[in-house]
Amino acid sequence: MKKFAELQYVRPDMEKIFARVSGDIAVLKEAKNYEEFRNAYMDYVEADTELETSKTVAHIRNTINLLDEFYEAEMVYFNSQMPKYEILKKEMGEVIVASPFKAEMEKEFGAILIQNMEAQKQLSDESIVDDQVKEAELVSRFMKTQAAATVEFKGEQIGNYGLLKIMQSTDRAERKEAFEAWAKLYEGIAPTLEEVYDGLVKVRAGMAKKLGFKSFIPMGYLRRRRFDYTEKELEVFRKQVREVVVPAAAKLYERQKEALGIDTLYYYDESIASPSGNPVPIGDKEYLVGEAQKMYRELSKESGEFFDFMMEHELFDLDSKHGKRAGGYCTTLPQYHAPFIFSNFNGTDADVNVLTHEAGHAFAGFTAAKYQKTPELCHSTSEINEIHSMSMELWTYPWMENFFGDKAEEYRREHLADALMKIPYMLCVDEYQHKVFENPEMTTMERRAVWSGLEKIYMPWRNYAGNEFLESGAFWIKQQHIFLYPFYYVDYAMAQMGAFEFYTKMKEDRKAAWADYYKLCAAGGSMGYFDLLKYSGLHKVLEDGSVKIILKGEFEELGL
Ligand code: ZN
Repeated sequence: MKKFAELQYVRPDMEKIFARVSGDIAVLKEAKNYEEFRNAYMDYVEADTELETSKTVAHIRNTINLLDEFYEAEMVYFNSQMPKYEILKKEMGEVIVASPFKAEMEKEFGAILIQNMEAQKQLSDESIVDDQVKEAELVSRFMKTQAAATVEFKGEQIGNYGLLKIMQSTDRAERKEAFEAWAKLYEGIAPTLEEVYDGLVKVRAGMAKKLGFKSFIPMGYLRRRRFDYTEKELEVFRKQVREVVVPAAAKLYERQKEALGIDTLYYYDESIASPSGNPVPIGDKEYLVGEAQKMYRELSKESGEFFDFMMEHELFDLDSKHGKRAGGYCTTLPQYHAPFIFSNFNGTDADVNVLTHEAGHAFAGFTAAKYQKTPELCHSTSEINEIHSMSMELWTYPWMENFFGDKAEEYRREHLADALMKIPYMLCVDEYQHKVFENPEMTTMERRAVWSGLEKIYMPWRNYAGNEFLESGAFWIKQQHIFLYPFYYVDYAMAQMGAFEFYTKMKEDRKAAWADYYKLCAAGGSMGYFDLLKYSGLHKVLEDGSVKIILKGEFEELGL
């Protein structure tokens, strides 16, 4: 593979690809033996891998410079062509699922591939095409509304993004002012966002009904490829969080209040752990990346190879630049088995997190690609793939001196506490969405009341300092997952448990723990959720009693 910047991009000939995949489908239908069947499938996989790679190269270059018209036009082209391609893929899945060679394919590639195809079939139907268009329109309205929102702050119009840093200010008055402005910004767009959400809830509930689901809940689970559990099992996890994690988090917030030297911890105090503020990295991008390379070489042979590969092929774009899209992500170029990390460094501890968390995703992708037969088998669901990344944050603890100097110990302590303190909110977001879809006809004010009630259960420390808008139960509208990816959020909490479990194991026996972690990464998405947990020696968080066992080590370390 060349360096990323030197990869030549040529627009794929979609007509040719459509013809090739249609040809593969015809062979799959007519195949006389498994070998013929398998060859046709693998030909499709090759075509798909090349297409995905070209599309990803264009996407990365588009996000690096949104002002570059060439890649902007390429993305428009892909967006216009992909729906037709998706229909072909769906057709292929239907042929495979109905084929006499299904069992042999399952034997060779694992049941998960067939399960994915069956789910796809259950989720699509002519009758919901208009609803899907409507859903996409509402989602885009949400994004535009959120992106365009500004508020006056210190005499200037400022957006959400501009406020975030000031919301971590060590000056309490300034922090308070920033949070109040932030709340005002959301209050301004709340009528639109709540109307959009009402539309989304109804259109999703309507689709579920048309497809024969009892509500949108099982349909949403299937969309997220949650094959192993239902909302009933998830409630077992929620209950444990309420009983075990919420009281522990309450103690940690109490401690934070004392550390800040204040009488009452208001919502605008939750964002900073100590009066001196959150630790910041001691060097610039070059320095941090160089330290990361040393660190990954020391951590293990496999992680060293991985990071050297990233460096050699320049698979990063980390600087903030004019025209670059905000935020960060990790993606892969399947043809080259190469991950890519995109970020906007800003001089905070988030930069180090990119080099641990996102690099954890990248490491898992790089590793799975070595062992799995197809790119699809590399991709696990988020309950698993966030274990890869959240564990890497913990694997790299011993090197934090190189990133934070004499603040390293403070960083580790706060990071570990923070990982625990975030969990109740994740469950609050999750239970809220279940309640919404159990009763899609609720009014906006009824939904706010539901949120308020759940906040009192999951975040009893939360104090909105008399802000009427937030006290009315409107905080949830800032959580874009609720709009864009229904039921996606509890996955982070479930994965954090897996990462904590690895943390305890690495304190006992680093070598054995790394071997289990490596196994999990190598397995990618080749098995279902429960099987992957079992395969790598992790507890099922959906089983009563597991959370207490998993957290024993963290509680000891945090003195809880
Ligand atoms: Zn992640």
